[in-house]
Amino acid sequence: MTGLLRDLAALVDPRRVWGDVEDLVAYTNDATHRRELPAAVVAPESADEVAAVLRYANQRGIPVIPRGAGTGLAGGAVPVSGGLVLDLKRLNRILEIDHKNLTATVECGVVTGHFQREVEARGLFYPPDPQSLAVCTIGGNVATRAGGPRGVKYGTTKDYVLGLEAVLPDGSVISYGGKSVKMSAGYDLARVFTGSEGTLGVITKVTLRLLVLPPSRRIMIAAFPELDSAAEAVSALIARGAEPSMLEMLDRIAVTSLQRYLPLGLPPDLEAFLIIEVDGHPAKVEEDCALVAEVCREYGVHEVRVARDAAEAERIVQARRALFPAAARAAPNLVIEDATVPRTQVPAMVRAIRRIAERHQVLISITGHIGDGNLHPGIIMDRRFPESVRRAEQAMAEIAREALNLGGTLSGEHGIGLLKAPFLEWEFGEAGVSLMRRLKRAFDPHGIMNPGKILGGGTAGVRD
Ligand SMILES: Cc1cc2nc3c(=O)[nH]c(=O)nc-3n(C[C@H](O)[C@H](O)[C@H](O)COP(=O)(O)OP(=O)(O)OC[C@H]3O[C@@H](n4cnc5c(N)ncnc54)[C@H](O)[C@@H]3O)c2cc1C
Repeated sequence: MTGLLRDLAALVDPRRVWGDVEDLVAYTNDATHRRELPAAVVAPESADEVAAVLRYANQRGIPVIPRGAGTGLAGGAVPVSGGLVLDLKRLNRILEIDHKNLTATVECGVVTGHFQREVEARGLFYPPDPQSLAVCTIGGNVATRAGGPRGVKYGTTKDYVLGLEAVLPDGSVISYGGKSVKMSAGYDLARVFTGSEGTLGVITKVTLRLLVLPPSRRIMIAAFPELDSAAEAVSALIARGAEPSMLEMLDRIAVTSLQRYLPLGLPPDLEAFLIIEVDGHPAKVEEDCALVAEVCREYGVHEVRVARDAAEAERIVQARRALFPAAARAAPNLVIEDATVPRTQVPAMVRAIRRIAERHQVLISITGHIGDGNLHPGIIMDRRFPESVRRAEQAMAEIAREALNLGGTLSGEHGIGLLKAPFLEWEFGEAGVSLMRRLKRAFDPHGIMNPGKILGGGTAGVRD
């Protein structure tokens, strides 16, 4: 056993410290193609144990990489500087669901889908629904500001964080916010941690806002012969005041790989498909369904299908969630982009992605939470061939650049992580990034927290 492992085993139960390569391999990557072996993995069970490990690492300048479920799509949990991976899945208690205040307090390792089911069993509703919700954690969602299809109506994780507890690199614990629905006291530290991707400290506990479960929902699929007309129908729907709770787009490439995995009976020769959900009072739901169908017809839809019953609706929702797994089965590797533009620019962004795919001779499927302008171009590549990786990464950079040219942002919900760190200055300029670096130094003067993420660079790190 190395000195590092011996020291860690004195801080937490030795059965929760791993250093053998066969154990470490499971922690080399997230859902991206980047991978690196850490020196050790520690699985704390409490904020006190997190604090003890951080204090130890901080004194020795050892990188610490917080990890939820490792489903990230930006390389955030990849231990590029070696160091310690902090596996946070054991901090998994739902501490309280407070029906009267419409809040819940949970530990960071609670799985999002499990939390949603617990909340819904009480007639309540936690809308943020990253499509990885069967495994991803609330801590990971807060750390990446995760979104999902319901973002179009309900916003994303950031809109539900009322307060949090976090451990700083020196082992001190801060707590900001709580059950109050409004707060104007001091700098908003909860917002600073939300989206910090493990670079400032470890989020150990979160208080979340809840809603009351909508009484009714309907789901529809609309199939369009042209991608452009589907994108334009989306802009028109929003402009006409439709308030869908989900407005997703899939192109032909995505639908083809999806239907190999999960047949939905969709016409395979059409170019674009919208999955639209409306929820709320039953009468309003009927009204919104009629409006959606009317607008889709105005934009040349081939077919609009309303799910007949709850079972069919669930099948469509499951199909949407299966998009990335289906594409992953069809392609050796997939780089999922996260370009986000103002809604009116969606048709221009779709056209730009098509041009970029052609220029670099790469296959790109286009899916996304189109209702909020958040596209997920899936760039198909094979990491065994450097030329394939080079072309995919070039296409990714150009898509990011184009999103900014159209007034958008580098990331709508996946974060910057490792993959987009080199682009950060494109969005915020030198002064903006320099301020972010100073903020990082104030929280983490020794630079141990998740080096190389968001701001690039990183420390040499300890590999032991
Ligand atoms: C099939 C699939 C579908 C997806 N769909 C969506 C989607 O619809 N919307 C969306 O937004 N994302 C989506 N994602 C991306 C991913 O699931 C989210 O980014 C999610 O929030 C990551 O959670 P995680 O627990 O897996 O975090 P990880 O991948 O383990 O970590 C992500 C980042 O957060 C940091 N981190 C994790 N926990 C903590 C903590 N407690 N304290 C401090 N830092 C922490 C890590 O260091 C890392 O930088 C999808 C991914 C997959 C594979």
